[in-house]
Amino acid sequence: LTGLLSVKEAQERILSVFQPVDTEMVPVARCAGRILAKDISAPGDLPPFTNSSMDGFAVRSADVQAASPSSPVVLQVVADIPAGSTSDIPLQPGQAARIMTGAALPPGADAVVPVENTDTQNSLGASPASQVGVLRGAKPGDSVRQRGMDVTQGQVLLEKQRKLQPQDLGILASTGMAQVPVFRRPRVALFSSGDELVQPGQPLGQGQIYDSNGFVLAALLEQAGAQPVPLGTAPDDPRQIEALLDRAIAEKADLILTSAGVSVGAFDYIRQVIEARGRLDFWKVDMRPGKPLAFGACADIPLIGLPGNPVSAFVGCLVFVLPAVRKLAGREAAPAFRQTAILGETIESDGRESYLRAVIEYRHGQRVATLTGHQGSGNMFSLVQAKALLIVPSGVKSLPSGSEAEIWFLSDE
Ligand code: AMP
Ligand code: MG
Repeated sequence: LTGLLSVKEAQERILSVFQPVDTEMVPVARCAGRILAKDISAPGDLPPFTNSSMDGFAVRSADVQAASPSSPVVLQVVADIPAGSTSDIPLQPGQAARIMTGAALPPGADAVVPVENTDTQNSLGASPASQVGVLRGAKPGDSVRQRGMDVTQGQVLLEKQRKLQPQDLGILASTGMAQVPVFRRPRVALFSSGDELVQPGQPLGQGQIYDSNGFVLAALLEQAGAQPVPLGTAPDDPRQIEALLDRAIAEKADLILTSAGVSVGAFDYIRQVIEARGRLDFWKVDMRPGKPLAFGACADIPLIGLPGNPVSAFVGCLVFVLPAVRKLAGREAAPAFRQTAILGETIESDGRESYLRAVIEYRHGQRVATLTGHQGSGNMFSLVQAKALLIVPSGVKSLPSGSEAEIWFLSDE
């Protein structure tokens, strides 16, 4: 392939090879953040039975219509119904049952009078007196939660592909489900490559640097719902690169991700090894940073080779890898939600689709973007300072101050 591939075309080619992984059952306690694999319908009504929403007295509302502080209605207390128990004694006219919040309404009752509207108080652990004076009337349904008022049996509660939120666990548990069908977390084997790389914690020799891409990529993958399988670092040595590919295959990865070694350097062996072990397309993508991109497969496992420069690897991961991970994970592949901002300065580009590091300020209620420092693809500090990536479309060489541009927030805080 010659020439430049557009970002969109590269994304589409990558996405086309991915299918959602299989599903698994996971205990409700551990399913937050997981992607639901099936629609969940209510197996029954919620609440499952009509119950009291107050601590008070279950009554026949017709009995207490005329009640007031100056002329209380006195009822006979014939039952005591704590939460978790029921009474099947039907209330007769003139009768009440003491009832606690969440307890089932007894037959015959159609309203609850809160204890605050009676002439009595609950004493901890004590049984009720045989009579109660009701100081305020109640209409049918007052302080009562009807069976099914929240959810009716068969209703879809949570839709397939939803990323489960903590509150979702509440409704799942309320239905009595102990396990939830979710997509398995895609396994992404990743390794960095380069003779110069040393792991943090080790002393640096002459000409060496610490591996940073491995950490960034693993964290991005994890945030996107994947399970990173970090394989460490391969030196620029075909045999050792091959050994890590073998480990990735043995780990049954759904995707293999590498950084560095895919460019035109004399020791960029990654492409050669992949070609020998599987198949490889190498693309020059019309973007900045991150023009070189390797895409292929080893033992039928898709492989994406990101460039080594830290900002290129980061942007490449956002633009190409995370959408693939989302698709693997059973979600819509759509990349992060993009928004717009007004440019606080004129921005020059070389005509490639550019992902520039920007800070965002709010002036007069408008989002204003300016660039963070030096945009070199090795400069990680300007990436750390950035709140968003600012996108200059392909073919555009200059965007004037005051014009609108697309931005991509880097975190939702
Ligand atoms: P390469 O793609 O191998 O030519 O690497 C491009 C640049 O990225 C070089 O300056 C490398 O030292 C740097 N680089 C490569 N891999 C990493 C990494 N894992 N962490 C930090 N920098 C890296
Ligand atoms: Mg290298």
